[in-house]
Parts: sequence; structure tokens; C-alpha cells
Amino acid sequence: MSDNCIFCKIAQGQIPSNKVYEDDDVIAFHDIHPIANVHFLIVPKRHIESLLTLVPDDQALLGKVLALAPQLAREQGLGEGFRTMINTGAKGGQSVFHLHLHVFGGGGKAETMM
Ligand code: 5GP
Ligand code: ZN
Repeated sequence: MSDNCIFCKIAQGQIPSNKVYEDDDVIAFHDIHPIANVHFLIVPKRHIESLLTLVPDDQALLGKVLALAPQLAREQGLGEGFRTMINTGAKGGQSVFHLHLHVFGGGGKAETMM
């Protein structure tokens, strides 16, 4: 738990979220400002700032986050395909400095993104 981290607070249940999945290690919830008709975030509960601060011990957890993407995407109606995104660092478009995988699809604004 990192002080003043919004995703740590969501992971601890201190701030509500529209959850799509939760286990001991990972939580997934709908993005508050969706860029597609379906847009959710898969978040390791452990506070990892970004891909730039990964340590070898984080690898299994990151593998789990990635492997959950197709499972949760199917459950959210994206079984025919979806996009994923990890923004890294302020210069990489990251605004919440707790690592998260965006999963989105199903039409909407993101269809026109590169
Ligand atoms: P980033 O720009 O860091 O890759 O993405 C952060 C994402 O988190 C944004 O898409 C933003 O809409 C979402 N977000 C920020 N604060 C909250 C929140 O309190 N709840 C939820 N559900 N999403 C949030
Ligand atoms: Zn955090």
C-alpha cells in the first residue's frame, strides 16, 4: 500500500469501483472515463509504480495480469478481439502511477486510435 495511491485504495476497498474481477493478487474494474464501449483496468494489488520500476519478483504477477486479459475480455463481451495498453511514465501517458493494464474494445472512441 502506497500512501495517496488511488489504485491501492481501490485494491483495499477504501474507494469503490465497478469491479469485474478480484482475487488475492489482482483486481479489475471498469475505467471511470472509458475510451471504448467496454474499458476496464487489470491492476496488481501490490503497488508497482510502472514497468520502469519492475523487479524480477514482479514477473509472475505481471504474467497473471496479462493472462487474465483474454478471460475477462471474453466475460465482458470482447471474445472476438480487444486492445490492451500499458502507459509507462508521465512521458508515456501514465497518469496513475500504479501499474495497470487497460483492456478495451467493443466500439467507441478507441476505434480510431492508432
Ligand atoms: P493511465 O493514463 O495512467 O494509463 O490510466 C489511468 C486510468 O485510470 C485512466 O483511464 C482513468 O480514467 C482511470 N482512473 C483514474 N482514477 C480512477 C478512479 O478513481 N476509478 C476508476 N475506475 N478509474 C480511474
Ligand atoms: Zn498503488
